[in-house]
Amino acid sequence: MELLEKIISLSKRKGFVFQSSEIYGGLNGCWDFGPLGVELLKNIKDEWWKAMTYRDNIEGLDASILMHPRTWDASGHTVQFSDPMIDNKTTKKRFRADNLIEEEIQKLLKKGKTEKAAELEKKLESAKENEDYYNIIIEADIHDSGSREWTEVKNFNLMFKTFVGPVEDSSNTVYLRPETAQGIFVNFKNVMESGRQKIPFGIAQIGKAFRNEINTKNFLFRTREFEQMEMQYFVKPGTEKESFEHWQKERWNWYVSLGMKEENLRWHDHEKLAHYANFASDIEFKFPFGFGEMEGIHSRTDFDLLKHQEYSGKKLEYVDTVNGDRFVPYVIETSGGVSRSFMAFLCNAYEEEVIRDGEKEDVRTVLRFHKKLAPIKAAVFPLVKKDGMPEIAKEIFNDIQTTFKAQYDESGAVGRRYRRQDEIGTPYCITVDGQSVEDGTVTIRDRDTMDQFRIHKDEVLAYLKSNI
Ligand code: ATP
Repeated sequence: MELLEKIISLSKRKGFVFQSSEIYGGLNGCWDFGPLGVELLKNIKDEWWKAMTYRDNIEGLDASILMHPRTWDASGHTVQFSDPMIDNKTTKKRFRADNLIEEEIQKLLKKGKTEKAAELEKKLESAKENEDYYNIIIEADIHDSGSREWTEVKNFNLMFKTFVGPVEDSSNTVYLRPETAQGIFVNFKNVMESGRQKIPFGIAQIGKAFRNEINTKNFLFRTREFEQMEMQYFVKPGTEKESFEHWQKERWNWYVSLGMKEENLRWHDHEKLAHYANFASDIEFKFPFGFGEMEGIHSRTDFDLLKHQEYSGKKLEYVDTVNGDRFVPYVIETSGGVSRSFMAFLCNAYEEEVIRDGEKEDVRTVLRFHKKLAPIKAAVFPLVKKDGMPEIAKEIFNDIQTTFKAQYDESGAVGRRYRRQDEIGTPYCITVDGQSVEDGTVTIRDRDTMDQFRIHKDEVLAYLKSNI
């Protein structure tokens, strides 16, 4: 089985991720996080929140998903937030034109046709208009199941539309936000003034975003509903390069500090910059299907604040109290997907380890999550379901649960119970045995080293606290 399939299957079996409304056949591009998934998701968000906002010059925000529709005129989303779409007339399948070409490049690479792939890559990099995509598709003889009957390439706006109130007309149209960033820009003044912030300062937000993606695929990588963790850092014009480089380092180190292997990460500097950006670089993760963006660091100049100033008629300036300078700040943005990094952390942690016991060879599946991210921090087992062991185990379990998410398991052989916990990445297993009844000591087993040692039952919680 391919790695991605294994991860999807483990995710379902263990309760990390389910298909949305599965009993009705699922809804494309939407996923539900199960009991373990929700813990992992929450741990990622908590770590991000602490790293980004527990400092003196970054404030938190939770803006609403529905915003005044003028927001999206100002940001350019109503006109420009679209992807190039192409349909195949025979197979009736719809594709994102740039993705279709990218897939062709991957196919060529697999066949060893590197020159042709490089040529196509170059053409794709320089494509700007829909017509350019169309011409590339025709010239490269791209087909879908043998059919070359393509429509022209059209723009497809990715924003989900809905209505406020009972009347469904255009004056009541609102959009589900396609990014959390605009909620931050429109609150720039509110946050700066209420937080008495001086430049440079940042505003951070975690929240849902919605995009009516043309093709959803690769599990959580591209979905229609997802969560973002974004921070907009407001700086004095002219200092943006320095700040951009600072945030590049900070964000890279954040992933590494949570166990991301550096060989799984790389930078991708944008050559084709968005209309608002003067520098942009992505942190990419090596997913089972290849490297893909996990977080973007963008220098957005004063584009957004100037636009909102123009469309709202409200001044969005900063006044330097020392020298009286007035200016519209520049913005450095760090924009990451929660569910994309959830998937990256899952892939990064997944390992099938061969264990040798004399002649015997065995494979254990283990999720080597960083302890801070592991959904379950500890599992408690009584060796057998009698002789006072369950009572002691329950007592330890209840004690741990005052602070950490834990599991209690008394079914099956202890070896199997260890494996169940390895598969979900639990860092510590605590076993209560006959000796525990006599002297109050229990075994702690480490997920990664599989080492076991004894400590007193009253010290278990303190041990977990100092090690997690
Ligand atoms: P792409 O080119 O892959 O469509 P993007 O460059 O438009 O992505 P941004 O607008 O910069 O992405 O969004 C910031 C982050 O939000 C991305 O790095 C990604 O982690 C996350 N993200 C964006 N779109 C999706 C999606 N459809 N599903 C899951 N996460 C997403």
